[in-house]
Amino acid sequence: MVQNLSDPQALPCISVVCPVYNEAANLDAFFGRLIPVLEKTRESFEIVCVNDGSSDASYAALLARQKQDMRLRLIDLSRNFGKEAALTCGLDAARGSAVIPIDADLQDPPELIEEMVHLWRQGFDVVLMLRVDRSSDGILKRKSAEWFYRLHNVLSDHAVPANVGDFRLMDRKVVDALKQFPERHRFMKGLFSWVGFRQATIPYVREVRAAGVSKFSAWKLWNLALEGITSFSTVPLRVWSYLGLMIALAAFAFGVFIVGRTLLLGIDLRGYASLVTIVLFLGGVQLIGLGVLGEYIGRLYIEVKRRPIYIVRQSDDDAS
Ligand code: UDP
Ligand code: MG
Repeated sequence: MVQNLSDPQALPCISVVCPVYNEAANLDAFFGRLIPVLEKTRESFEIVCVNDGSSDASYAALLARQKQDMRLRLIDLSRNFGKEAALTCGLDAARGSAVIPIDADLQDPPELIEEMVHLWRQGFDVVLMLRVDRSSDGILKRKSAEWFYRLHNVLSDHAVPANVGDFRLMDRKVVDALKQFPERHRFMKGLFSWVGFRQATIPYVREVRAAGVSKFSAWKLWNLALEGITSFSTVPLRVWSYLGLMIALAAFAFGVFIVGRTLLLGIDLRGYASLVTIVLFLGGVQLIGLGVLGEYIGRLYIEVKRRPIYIVRQSDDDAS
């Protein structure tokens, strides 16, 4: 199928969804590589760019490009909502039969799209892109990602494949399934894998960011990791009953021991240090338990408010 330029309403075959947050320095190079690849597939396509409240010239650059190329669709969010929300917005807007989320910083090589589309044409609903070499990420990010996947997959009923990012191809069926998720807190990698479908995997080497710095600070990554675990597992909540039971049993056994010893050997007032240690330890354990409860209750609170995931300031669909 070749692009039908005379009818802009015709549904495209491929939608590329690209969240953009302060990527002005990358956009020219990004489109310079992406568009020829898409043209080479000989499928009709649209590029849905979601400007996630950029404070640099990204939006102006996207607008200028859109004026020249109708295949670019632009959605401007009212502020920075974070990558997961921007991606959700892009998926909601995408109209293609296949949807490919991609980062604008050229860490996900657009050239691989050809092979993704090929596998999709063979009947796979999801084509996962597996990062075989993450040396473009720092050692700390690599290690923490590795630990996170391990912990997440032990705790959660549903495993997230390690080293698979948001860059992937999804059939319309998969995207429609994802759109049914009402949750406000969105851990996209988890949701992507939760829906299932027939999957193929392509290994690739993740490139270094073309320009600028990563928008994910250590603190943001930590919160994303918490999000991933709390959205897909209740083990951290339930573990406290078992831990409490174990501590209670140990305390009971210790009590029996103390009473027995007092009865046999008489009253002994020593033991101040062990008493303080036990009280402090239990206090700490209780606070951790409360903290975990807080994490979940906080999330419940946000979910029940049912606020929108993102707010669109302007989208070119408004005009048409
Ligand atoms: N991004 C976004 N909103 C944010 C942070 C990032 O839309 O709040 C976009 C960013 O412009 C890029 C993609 O998400 O296209 C990935 O971001 P980044 O490269 O900073 O993440 P990393 O590759 O370091 O995980
Ligand atoms: Mg990046």
